[in-house]
Amino acid sequence: MKRKIITLLLLCGSILLTLQAESLYAQNELNRISIAERSDGKGYVVRNHLSSMVDSVKIEQPSPDRIQMLLFAQELDTLNFRYPPQTGTFNHFDLFPVDNGMGVEISLSAGNYFKTRTYPDQNGRDLLLAMERVSSTEIEQIAANSTEIDFTDYIADIHGFAEDEEIDNSFLRIRDNQEFNVIVLDAGHGGKDPGTENRSMRLQEKDIALAVTLKVGEYIKEHIPDVEVVYTRTDDTFVPLSERGLTATRNKGDLFVSIHVNAAPNSPSAHGTETFFLGLARSKSALEVMKRENSVVDLENGPGSLELSEEELLVYELTNTGNLAISERIASMVEDQFKNRAQRRSRGVKQAGLEALWHASTPAVLIELGFLSNPSEARFLNSDYGQTIMASAIFRAIRDFKLEYDRSIRGNGERQASNE
Ligand SMILES: [Zn+2]
Repeated sequence: MKRKIITLLLLCGSILLTLQAESLYAQNELNRISIAERSDGKGYVVRNHLSSMVDSVKIEQPSPDRIQMLLFAQELDTLNFRYPPQTGTFNHFDLFPVDNGMGVEISLSAGNYFKTRTYPDQNGRDLLLAMERVSSTEIEQIAANSTEIDFTDYIADIHGFAEDEEIDNSFLRIRDNQEFNVIVLDAGHGGKDPGTENRSMRLQEKDIALAVTLKVGEYIKEHIPDVEVVYTRTDDTFVPLSERGLTATRNKGDLFVSIHVNAAPNSPSAHGTETFFLGLARSKSALEVMKRENSVVDLENGPGSLELSEEELLVYELTNTGNLAISERIASMVEDQFKNRAQRRSRGVKQAGLEALWHASTPAVLIELGFLSNPSEARFLNSDYGQTIMASAIFRAIRDFKLEYDRSIRGNGERQASNE
């Protein structure tokens, strides 16, 4: 009798263990790859359909006709994998199972050259490969700078590497961005670049932007101490636009907030706040802002140096829509604060292709505090009182967004836990 019970218990135990193992290991499935032609005709977006996002990805283009991807995820399952149909451009797809991941090799037919980038999709599961046509010269260069992936290097049975051996660090980390803890504050312009000016009042955009930015940072540090604040500048120095966005990426920023002041020299009555998030310029005024706020690059490389092309923005839109949605949400919370708490005139939330935002691979907004060309608004923005009001409005928007975000993350975690 006793033995029977023990046997039964052992049996139950092993069933439980098996179930446990199943739920641990059948974590991610790559079930197909699909190809969509870009609407601007300049290339393709290849979608890796996954049941959850991979941990990291490596991409190489060792020769003009080959794109290699290495997707890493615990026990990536490809049992039900369906290959995409062959087309003129795509010769064939090959899968190479590796430990905790999958190698994918795309062979292209002759004369089709692309530069590539990978992005996580907004749905949080699929991995996208954006492909844009390039010339044969460009692809030669890409191939020359690329190292062929030998997929067998990633199979322990063949090479017998130790389990905790560091493989290499050239992977793009995809999944370590679960928290909202690092905020990058970017005071527009600085140093030799004054931004917009009100000459008769001797006011420069760079000074007001810096004062408000530093105040926002102080409020965050004081009231949300678990959030780290990173500044692109804390004094009157010139920082190139590309450097500002990279600061966000390098510090694993969760939000990039760029603070500016507007101007409309030909209509001194214009006033109010605007908040932009990155996207295709859809209106003429958004285009004007793009030109003005992007013009700082001219100081570095001479006139006409910057053309953030429509297609670059399109790829960004196609692939970064998750960030876009967050950016748009924060932008609207900022404008709400300006309008309802700070009693400013809100000119609304807008989309624009701003280079300062483009370089930040995080959610990003650009705030125009008001018009320096409007004397009464200029006085307000130059006063400590006005700067305090504007900075606290921005702070409250960030704080409220963080609360909302943390709640949604916790919600997901609880749902996941209850599924197990
Ligand atoms: Zn500016």
